[in-house]
Amino acid sequence: MSRYILSLDQGTTSCRAILFDRNGDTLALAQKEFSQHFPKPGWVEHDPMEILSTQLDCISQCLEKAGTDGSSIACIGITNQRETTVVWDCTTGKPVYPAIVWQCRRTQELSNRLRNESDLFRRKTGLVPDAYFSGPKIKWILDNVPEAAALADSGKLLFGTIDTWLIWNLTGGKKHCTEPSNASRTMLFNLETLSWDEQLLERLGIPFDMMPAVLSSDGDFGMTSKNIVGFEAPITGVLGDQQAALFGQACFRQGMAKCTYGTGGFLLVNIGTASHLVPGLLTTLAWKLDGQPAVYALEGAIFIAGAAIQWLRDGLGIIENSEQSESIATSVGSNEGVYFVPALVGLGSPWWDSSVRGTIVGLTRGSGRAHLVRAALEAMAYQVADVATKMKEHGICLEELRVDGGATRNKFMVQFQSDLLGVSVIRSSQVEATAWGAAALAGLKAGVIASLDEIAESWQHDQTFTPQEDRAGDYAGWQAALKGTFACAGVHP
Ligand code: ADP
Repeated sequence: MSRYILSLDQGTTSCRAILFDRNGDTLALAQKEFSQHFPKPGWVEHDPMEILSTQLDCISQCLEKAGTDGSSIACIGITNQRETTVVWDCTTGKPVYPAIVWQCRRTQELSNRLRNESDLFRRKTGLVPDAYFSGPKIKWILDNVPEAAALADSGKLLFGTIDTWLIWNLTGGKKHCTEPSNASRTMLFNLETLSWDEQLLERLGIPFDMMPAVLSSDGDFGMTSKNIVGFEAPITGVLGDQQAALFGQACFRQGMAKCTYGTGGFLLVNIGTASHLVPGLLTTLAWKLDGQPAVYALEGAIFIAGAAIQWLRDGLGIIENSEQSESIATSVGSNEGVYFVPALVGLGSPWWDSSVRGTIVGLTRGSGRAHLVRAALEAMAYQVADVATKMKEHGICLEELRVDGGATRNKFMVQFQSDLLGVSVIRSSQVEATAWGAAALAGLKAGVIASLDEIAESWQHDQTFTPQEDRAGDYAGWQAALKGTFACAGVHP
């Protein structure tokens, strides 16, 4: 009997395929990294064909590990790195250019120019014009790849975020579609009409014909092709990675929030069925279920969280692995005034400034690597606190925070976060909250899971961290360090 849910988690550095049962228990997991390309400083590209082949490898390895075949799969959920842009020729199926990754800053200048029209983009899309989003990346391909414009004129050019690219390929080119949580990361999707915005498409010179159909997040995304995937199964749920984690953490009620601490940090709060703007934060679609009103989220996007720990390991060589960071940080009783503002690629929410760079302040003769490691861990929590502070200023107070992601293995960091925010921080027992979110949505649609209540009931916490210490003094030190960071760049936020 087909009763399992296959989740495809297409991340920034690796693909995963996970087979879940209806309770969120994992039967098998396969993961494989793929190549990262950095052709120029600040540029980041992926090979879309490699993403596809890596994802297909993960599917077959996962089924092999589970000792089952495609006939046991009731449905498929897809979650993906957001904003990353693929443009391809629909007659050959070949991308006209590598995928331009969300981290890529090549469209910074264009985005800076669009800041003059911030009001228009903010009002319509909920986003701050930035190189982060897909729209400017599509425009760059149209302007810089010679064959792209001609293909676009003949109606043969297709655009997709990674969900769309995977769906198109897994269904053998039958479906060119996406859903609102991914669409709302393009700077081209109107949050109110839930459709592509013709004025914004025109503003960026992007033909409407390139754009995928926008279905519900639990829409009919087609059947996988036996020739390509090895079996037929319906794709019934799709969400961008951060919205998938919000769903997987069962944040179904307005006011519920989650934060994922991976390479970057992403705090999302469910704001219900009416969208509104908060300065410095993004308003985005959380999900849209068939026949129900869209659910919106307010998002703080932090570009460097766990990546700062990677930098201590790979850039400075002062730690051997990320796990070690906890014992090193707790070997000192406090940061002793040392702060690290990890603006290594500028700062995202709530500052949105790409010109600032990382700074370390407060060094003395007594400072050592432990202070620096501690400062990097504290910085994850301070940046999330900056986002929470903005939310609070606009009437959104967190009651508790559900957390997931690799860096939440660090108990010191999670405890520090709870101290700073003054609320309980709850680590989910579902380590794969993102993949589970897409699986749960797909399972709900396919009838494997009965209701949202069932998903909420199967959610379990692993550990709850409650506030233990007053960190107001530490936070004041961070804010002073931030001022210094902006001053170094000659910026006055
Ligand atoms: P992503 O999905 O973005 O690749 P993961 O959720 O796999 O990220 O988490 C990996 C990140 O978490 C890395 O940046 C790593 O430095 C950080 N990390 C992993 N374990 C720890 C730890 N024990 N302490 C601090 N950071 C950690």
